[in-house]
Amino acid sequence: MTTKKIKPEHGMSTIVNHVGEGGHDKHAHLMPIYQTSTFGFDTVEEAGEVFAGKKKAYAYTRSQNPNMDHLANKIAYMEGVDLIRSNPDAEPSELVMGKVTSSGMAATSVAVLAKMRAGDKAIVQRGLYGNSFKWWYQFAPRLGLEVVWFSDVNPQSLADVIEQNPDAKMIFLETPSNPNIEIVDLEKLVEAARAHDTWVVVDNTFATPYHQRPLTFGCDVVLHSTSKYISGHGQVIGGAIVSTHLDYMAPGGDGVGLTYKMLGVAPSPTDTSLINVGLKTFEVRMQKHAENALAVATWLQAQSPIEEVLYPGLQENPYHELAKRQMMNGFGGMVSFKVRGGVKNSMAFTNAVTIPTLAVSLGNVDSLIQHPASMTHSATPKAEREKAGITDNLVRLSVGIENIDDLIADLDQAMNQLK
Ligand code: PLP
Repeated sequence: MTTKKIKPEHGMSTIVNHVGEGGHDKHAHLMPIYQTSTFGFDTVEEAGEVFAGKKKAYAYTRSQNPNMDHLANKIAYMEGVDLIRSNPDAEPSELVMGKVTSSGMAATSVAVLAKMRAGDKAIVQRGLYGNSFKWWYQFAPRLGLEVVWFSDVNPQSLADVIEQNPDAKMIFLETPSNPNIEIVDLEKLVEAARAHDTWVVVDNTFATPYHQRPLTFGCDVVLHSTSKYISGHGQVIGGAIVSTHLDYMAPGGDGVGLTYKMLGVAPSPTDTSLINVGLKTFEVRMQKHAENALAVATWLQAQSPIEEVLYPGLQENPYHELAKRQMMNGFGGMVSFKVRGGVKNSMAFTNAVTIPTLAVSLGNVDSLIQHPASMTHSATPKAEREKAGITDNLVRLSVGIENIDDLIADLDQAMNQLK
């Protein structure tokens, strides 16, 4: 049985089910789990060639393992599919490379530290996921990295901040951002960043390559917490880095290759395999998340206890036109909203729902709800939260694939408790 051939024109469900599949040991339908720390050699001479980088073979799972490569190649294909389609004569690995990590935070650590040295400067979005904010706010200064913050995602303000910091090595952002669902115009950002060789590093966890592919706009690095939509079932923690800069990604190079090994961020082969199995239903899950999220956002918008709904799929949303251009197949499954009556009512509402689980994380097939000021963003100082527009009455809902009538009926009973 040979490895399946994927054609550039194949769609997302075909990609996630067939890239790198087939040709497995003993004709296994799914790739077996190589739950092994080390790999044997026949002779010392052969081992020497592998360690010298002259021959390709697996040696030690902290650096590379078949399950990790399998998943990394698939995620790289998903993020790079537009480049692959426009260069049909090239091998996908000549265009885009991926690496999977033990968590989304590990992906951030590797991606940044592979590029930056003490004394280097980054331009960073203030309204990031709480621990990503903390990485730059508390951890980066310890490493001697300089941070210039931005809150305003307007293309002109971003161009200005890049222009004022022409020596910045990268601009680091999320779009849509967590938890305020703000959208950054990637095309305009890349244009501004190109003028100064500033890399654009995008955390694409919320959108996923189903809705948005930053590499298509010329962004340099894409990050994921695969703990979310990529795995989809909330069983595992994982991350991914994808880039078109092959020298930066090279396993034997001093960028991602070295940093990955030194930080020791390899995921377990079993977790990696679970993420790969989760991916098989990726497209159908994402379709349903987006459909349900739009229905929930539309419903929430009509409720008097709700002050504002943050969802780019709504026509009234300030990012709607940009999101229509930049995203595809809908607007994702994340809906945030502000509840009238301040923190008291936002907490009361969050406590009153019964279908969504009160929990951090997102992107699971079942709905999750949380109160950022008390949970994911509680470690962000209040003053910084305020600068980023993350208010105390904000609730974040990761809309699952449950029956939409059940979900809305549950939100309705919770809403009625506020009226
Ligand atoms: N990026 C975003 C947008 C996230 O929401 C999270 C976690 O919630 C992370 C990165 C970190 O990922 P992980 O929890 O897998 O380390």
